[in-house]
Amino acid sequence: EPNSIQNEYFSSYEDLEVHRLMLEDNPRTLAYKNAIMNNKSYFKGKIVMDVGCGTGILSIFCAQAGAKKIYAVEASNVANLAREIVKENKFEDVIEVIHSYVEDVVLPDNIKVDAIISEWMGFYLLHEGMLDSVLIARDKFLKVNGEMFPESATIYISPCSVPTLYKKWDNFHGLSMTSVANQLRASKCNKPEIMVVEAEDIIGSDEVVLCWINLKEDIVSEVDSFSIEHVVGAKKDGIYQGLCLWFDVVFPDLTGSNDNVRLDTGPFSSPTHWKQTVIVLPQEQVVEVGDPIAFQMDMTRDASNRRRYNIQVSLLDPDEAEHPLPCTCHLTKC
Ligand code: SAH
Repeated sequence: EPNSIQNEYFSSYEDLEVHRLMLEDNPRTLAYKNAIMNNKSYFKGKIVMDVGCGTGILSIFCAQAGAKKIYAVEASNVANLAREIVKENKFEDVIEVIHSYVEDVVLPDNIKVDAIISEWMGFYLLHEGMLDSVLIARDKFLKVNGEMFPESATIYISPCSVPTLYKKWDNFHGLSMTSVANQLRASKCNKPEIMVVEAEDIIGSDEVVLCWINLKEDIVSEVDSFSIEHVVGAKKDGIYQGLCLWFDVVFPDLTGSNDNVRLDTGPFSSPTHWKQTVIVLPQEQVVEVGDPIAFQMDMTRDASNRRRYNIQVSLLDPDEAEHPLPCTCHLTKC
């Protein structure tokens, strides 16, 4: 990875505001806390690695759950803050903060850990590409049959409307300014929009799974590119203006009660700092309930920056389901 990309990425995490945003994201922080505390019986006496510990919060939850040793690895200077917070909570005998890239860490006696915990998710799950580091840490440090928190992740897609971008221009202070909407549409087209999509603006009758990632088994090359071609029905009358992307992650339940904690960043759950990601379409389309909407989406890692993905959307003709003809092609650089 070129140094400039690496520096830019890690220096963004030196900004305390970024950590504040994550800490104060309640669905996020509570999901991790519950996933750990519900598995107290598992964590007792275990050795854990926290990949990218930031302020150290997840390591401290693990210590509270009874883990006997936690390696809290953090590459940015926030590691110093983590050390202070660990001390503040009197866990300095249990939690060892390691200020390093996890890729460079060497544990004493090549010790292996029972579990890896990490909050690595970016916009539309894969933006930032931190998952690579987590998978590398897994292969290097996790015991055979060790646990991953979270253990799986899924990206979903659904057609949507984006009234907050367009609707107001129909009647703006009594004027019709749809030309502004059209120009906006053209300019938004080449970059995904990170925004909250209301549940009522989801048009697809079902969410489509773009990919399912198994954190215990998948390897880095398996998260390089994903592709899907799909037809979904419209569940209501509406204006189809974009494709909404979101993700969830699921944590293991090791108590045998099959009550897995799930952190869902979709439009039907409480909003998180990830919001949703919308690929805005170059043209809008009026749809009626039951209408088929066909699309293809390809998400591929950018060749010059592995922390980014290019998302390409092709709108397909649903009547040509067997040999779909792309009627619009659309490349979005993230
Ligand atoms: N675990 C914390 C912070 C999550 S943000 C919390 O839940 O609040 C992700 C953190 O991982 C950032 O602080 C970032 O600097 C760190 N990170 C990302 N890649 C890393 C790597 N390869 N090695 C060490 N730290 C890394």
